[in-house]
Amino acid sequence: MEFCNETLELAKKAENRAKIFFERMDEVCAFNEAKVLEAFNKLRVSESDLHGSTGYGYGDAGRDKLDQVYAQAFGCEKALVRHHFVSGTHTLSTALFGVLRPGDTMVCLTGTPYDTMTEVIGINGEDGQGSLKDFGINYAQLDLLSDGSVNYDDIKDAVKGKKVAYIQRSRGYSLRESLTVNEIEKIIELARQGNKDIIVIVDNCYGEFVEKKEPSTADLIVGSLIKNPGGGIARAGGYIAGKSKYVDLCANRLTCVGVGAEEGCSLSQNREMYMGFFFAPSVVCNAVKTSIFALSLFDMMGYEVFPKYDAVRTDIIAAIKLNSEDKLVAFCKGIQQGSPIDSFAIPELSEMPGYQDKVVMAAGAFTNGASIELSADGPARQPYAVWLQGGLTYNTGKLGVLKAFEAIQKLK
Ligand SMILES: *Cc1c(COP(=O)(O)O)cnc(C)c1O
Repeated sequence: MEFCNETLELAKKAENRAKIFFERMDEVCAFNEAKVLEAFNKLRVSESDLHGSTGYGYGDAGRDKLDQVYAQAFGCEKALVRHHFVSGTHTLSTALFGVLRPGDTMVCLTGTPYDTMTEVIGINGEDGQGSLKDFGINYAQLDLLSDGSVNYDDIKDAVKGKKVAYIQRSRGYSLRESLTVNEIEKIIELARQGNKDIIVIVDNCYGEFVEKKEPSTADLIVGSLIKNPGGGIARAGGYIAGKSKYVDLCANRLTCVGVGAEEGCSLSQNREMYMGFFFAPSVVCNAVKTSIFALSLFDMMGYEVFPKYDAVRTDIIAAIKLNSEDKLVAFCKGIQQGSPIDSFAIPELSEMPGYQDKVVMAAGAFTNGASIELSADGPARQPYAVWLQGGLTYNTGKLGVLKAFEAIQKLK
């Protein structure tokens, strides 16, 4: 792969300043790999667990054990890990519909949630489509403060009379800081002080294995398998982990009452879901290194980046304010060019279901839409920020970032 000398020199500098932060991630990775291996050992994962089931999927021991492996590694009572979840949004939707009932109110404590969730909740989109709102479930929101931080002072009041408190760990398509697990724990503590019966649900998307612990003091944590915990190997799916009684309610919603988690054949997905989880801490580490590298490089070039390259990390996302539509599209074209699959495709701005603005997305992934693989996207709105995530390996992630960088430099 050819790059101009200037790019390579800048890359070297960007990497050199990032190295000590890579080391911090290596330590987190070693810890989390041990945690996952320990879960495999404790639960006696066996070759026979890797085979799948068909039809109803009764007695699928491998599927049931994978639930336990997730629960153990994440420090939760129970988990529901299924390829039947079509996306992170579907998994989160299942969790909300699982525990909320007509007349209940959910409150989001971290400002407006991720774009696709606004339609699930019913604060965006048409009425009558089956949103929570259509089912008589009310929504309240504790806005972030003007500097993008959580309004800790008002949490206790905000949860009064509410059934569910919803917390989003990662920034989503916003430039607020992602929340560390310690911060999430503090929010949960305050929420429980304000309402001891509150059910806390954490959108854990993009956060898994970036820190040594997960926000498992919540009642439910939820994520997508084509992000961090699938390790780039799981072909689809999501997980819900947390308190047994709530996980069971979610299982009833995913399948139906009376069936819960007992049905749902794994087809031939068990092996890849186990293997993906086994690899996940290491793949996440590569993704975070790719992210740190990109932040360091674009910061050096004078772009405003979120978070700073030297920040303590809690997710795999890097957001870069590019300030122009041309740069946003060029960046994504570059990422696409540096991807292993469909590198010849040219991303364009277009409408996407679930999103309010036109979006441009670069994804040259082995798994369609997998954003634990190197990918970039951003909506066509000010300040034309791009969100970069993934990278199965650091070296290839870095090459993709350099392609994006050169694509922008060529615009000038
Ligand atoms: C990715 C993501 C989701 C779920 O998105 P899907 O594309 O449906 O998997 C939800 N919340 C956040 C913060 C996310 O990053």
